[in-house]
Amino acid sequence: MVRAPHGDAPPRAQEGLPDVFRKAACFLACKSLADQVEEVDLVGEDVLPTYEATDIQREMLSSDVLRLRFRAPGLVVPAGMFVRFITPSGLKRSYSVANSSLTPSDTFEFHIRLLPDGQMSQFLSAIEEPILKIQGPFGNCTYTSADLEKPIVFIGSGTGLAPLYAVLTESLAKGNRGQCTLYFGGATSESLYCVDELRELEKRFANVRVVFCTDSPSDWTITGSPVAVAMEENPSFKGIMVYTCGHPALVKAAKLKTFMAGASMSEIFSDAFDQQS
Ligand SMILES: Cc1cc2nc3c(=O)[nH]c(=O)nc-3n(C[C@H](O)[C@H](O)[C@H](O)COP(=O)(O)OP(=O)(O)OC[C@H]3O[C@@H](n4cnc5c(N)ncnc54)[C@H](O)[C@@H]3O)c2cc1C
Repeated sequence: MVRAPHGDAPPRAQEGLPDVFRKAACFLACKSLADQVEEVDLVGEDVLPTYEATDIQREMLSSDVLRLRFRAPGLVVPAGMFVRFITPSGLKRSYSVANSSLTPSDTFEFHIRLLPDGQMSQFLSAIEEPILKIQGPFGNCTYTSADLEKPIVFIGSGTGLAPLYAVLTESLAKGNRGQCTLYFGGATSESLYCVDELRELEKRFANVRVVFCTDSPSDWTITGSPVAVAMEENPSFKGIMVYTCGHPALVKAAKLKTFMAGASMSEIFSDAFDQQS
């Protein structure tokens, strides 16, 4: 990928690129003809606009999940997409936006699992007033369906809830009337968070159902992985949209199994929370 310094990138060579790169006049050299551009720039880290996180607020949602909120004037992120946090030392990590237009706010919300020896985890939890720069948005895990009756299944574990919650509530804000079932998993019932918020959502919207799944049995959850429980309850995924986010192994299994059960590849949206170096 290269960049047209005067903004005149050949449109055909931008096909398939995320919006954030297209807006920055980036394009694929392999898809353009030599006489279509006179000059190109190499694409560096500075090609994307960078925003400043201000008014940072932190609150623990469970023993290891941090709710981080901040404002980032100028940044626009469709519900469910992710951004990149950059620390003053240059450490970069991706995090998915958890809020949506169901509760309009000028503040972005994130759910961050704090890993005891994780670099960004330590930075966010230890620093009194963290300084963060933000780039994005990235990804395609958003609600774009034109069919407001279509059933949707959401499958995730841990902080994979963040983008799923954003997409679910965004769909409701847009008037989605299709059955929405969220299979939300964790190791134990104590590791599940935002439980009250999810129950409130069920009360407020008749088409929303949340199935809490845990590896260890408890008196209010179903024992099993969210993928296994979703597959058991839905023998066929024909005509069902699927969103799956969180641990890479869970996302891989959910995509494969729902596809094999009839979901269309173009209606499976996912974000695997891969580790980054
Ligand atoms: C698209 C996307 C969206 C994401 N969204 C979210 C989200 O909404 N919420 C969320 O919590 N996370 C999300 N993640 C994951 C997030 O980006 C980070 O990977 C995560 O927070 C860990 O970062 P860290 O710097 O704290 O840990 P790291 O320092 O990256 O360490 C991660 C783990 O790897 C281990 N480790 C590190 N280096 C080594 C090594 N050399 N050898 C062996 N082990 C090692 C550490 O001990 C730690 O357990 C997302 C990831 C992606 C790709």
